[in-house]
This record gives sequence, C-alpha cells and structure tokens, in this order.
Amino acid sequence: MEADRNTGPPAVASGRTTADRLGRPLQDLRISLLDRCNFRCPYCMPESTFHADYEFLKRSQRLTHEEILTVARVAVGLGVTKLRLTGGEPLLDKQAPDLVAGLADLAGVDDLALTTNGTLLEPVAAALKSAGLKRVTISLDSLDDDVFARMSGGRGSVRQVLNGIAAAERAGISPIKINVVVQRGINDHTVLDLLEYFRGSGHIVRLIEYMDVGNRNGWRMEEVVPSRELLEMIEARWPVTAVGRNYPGEVARRYEYTDGGGEIGFISSVTEPFCGNCSRARLSADGVLYTCLFATRGTDLRTPLRHGVGEAGLAEILERVWLRRSDRYSEQRQPEVAAAQPLSKVEMYRIGG
Ligand code: SF4
Repeated sequence: MEADRNTGPPAVASGRTTADRLGRPLQDLRISLLDRCNFRCPYCMPESTFHADYEFLKRSQRLTHEEILTVARVAVGLGVTKLRLTGGEPLLDKQAPDLVAGLADLAGVDDLALTTNGTLLEPVAAALKSAGLKRVTISLDSLDDDVFARMSGGRGSVRQVLNGIAAAERAGISPIKINVVVQRGINDHTVLDLLEYFRGSGHIVRLIEYMDVGNRNGWRMEEVVPSRELLEMIEARWPVTAVGRNYPGEVARRYEYTDGGGEIGFISSVTEPFCGNCSRARLSADGVLYTCLFATRGTDLRTPLRHGVGEAGLAEILERVWLRRSDRYSEQRQPEVAAAQPLSKVEMYRIGG
C-alpha cells in the first residue's frame, strides 16, 4: 500500500536531488522492520504458505536498528525526506519507538510515518508519538467482524484495531489514515458502512484497488473494484468534491465530502497507475533495496554494510541503483498476463505496501 503526507513540497536537507532515468527524484524510503506479521491476509501472506512452520528471517539476518539508521542517513543525504516504517507488522518489533527516535533525529527528515494493522498500537501509541512519529496509516479492510476475519486470516479483531486508532488519536498522532484494500465479492459490500463510521472523525479513509502484489494471492482482474466504480457508489450516498494532490508523487486521489464530513482517497494502481511521479524506494528487513513494489530483484545492502563499505560507499551504491531506475510496472501491467503468467515479484510482506 503506497503512502503520502499533508503539507507542501519537502525541504531537502542535503539540497541534493537524485533523479532516476524518468526524472523522478528519490524522496521516500520505506523501511521494513521485519518480515513477520500477526495477520495472515490472503492477499499478502496466505496461511497456506505462511503456516506455523514457515521459516522467517532470523534476527541475525535482519538489519539492526543501527544499520537501518545508517541506510536512512545515507538516503537522506541523497535527497530522501520521507521515511515510513512498515513490515510485515512493524510493531512486532518491541524496540520500534527507539528506532523512531533515531530516525526523527536525522536532519532533513520532515515526514516520519508508520504503517500497521493496528492491533498492537494501543499500548505504544504515546511512546511512538513522543519518539517523533508524525503520522500513522492503519490497515482496516472492514468493520464487519466476519469479513474482517476472512481478510486477516482469522487474526486480530475490529475492536483491537479501533482501540489502536483511538490510542493514536489520544496520543496526538495526526493525520491518521485508514487503508482499505477493496476486493470484489469479499468486502466491497461493507465499504459504505466503514466510510459512514469514519465520516466526521477527521481520519482519512483511503480505498485501495486490489493489486497483484507478490506471487501468492491468485490475483484476478475480476476481483478489482475500479476506484471510478467506488466513487459512483459513494456519490450516490454522499456528494464529494475532488481536491488536488498535496504534492507531486502523492499516490491518493483526494476527495472531500461536500457536507464537511472529511476527506477520502483512492489509490488506483490498477486502473489509474501513478508511476510517473513515483519517488519511493523500499528497504527489506534483510537489507535488500527495491525500487518498485512489483520489483523482481533488488540490491543487497547488508553484505557491503557488514563488510565495512562505509557511508560514502553505501551512498555510491544507492545513487547508482536509483540513477538507473526505470520501473513503472503499474503503467505496463497487462492484467490478463499478470494473472496468467505472474512475474516472480518480491513479496509485499517483505517490503511493505
Ligand atoms: S514504479 Fe512501482 S512502486 Fe512506483 S508507482 Fe509504479 S508500480 Fe508502484
């Protein structure tokens, strides 16, 4: 799931801009803290594959917080201003607030966000806020308990997620975004109830088209509900007005209820791809840098990091990777091909949405 922020263009501390082959600047770094999750969402981490005996990364295979800070510092030097912590489920890392504090101290980081399924958020929301977390995005695919269970692999509960949202609000983390992956025949019939629940709350619900991420969700175009169709369904209930993007590269198309009920967004990677402004790099928990959510290969940073490459050497590697970047998978996606002969793509749980 792809992220954004609510203020004007970022200030680049290093003053550097590193642009790829399509002229897109490196601005966002998504950092996966670990490959584990307490959910088993079928569109990301189906239980059939990720069962109890599945071997996830050992701690020694994962980057340490110190190594993550080193990569982030180097990336900021190349123009990154936005950092997002993700997973798997990042709050399974009990020291996440400490890492947030370290990242928040990096000069030039003007946006520090976290993506979580919300079930572990309640006890740490205040600590994350005081550590410097700016915003949080919480995945909540339905308020219907049965549908929620179906989409989370029977893990967690709606109540736990709502408690997490309430705790983030009490802690003063703002804005709070609610990400909803909409799958035809699974949760599309519960979207209006979820929107109704969050209208007037100040939280921003973003409806995300179901994507062919990874290799295991058996994606089919028929299960995609185009954002245009959802918008029509919403407008039949509440008039909305399109509002501009907050900045180039923002992935969501933003709308506001004309009655003041707040903002909603649509992330339409399948029917309205937005690769043209994509400024996102992704770091997996084992230190592989990917330049696209649908990448088929990445660049190992852990080995050079652990062999004393140093920050200057690391900067050369990152810069080289980004300068030769030309990814635009969503613009090139051919749904029938994507369904019939899926590429061997990186799994989403390894790099976050
Ligand atoms: S380049 Fe890749 S990550 Fe960026 S918007 Fe396109 S598909 Fe998504």
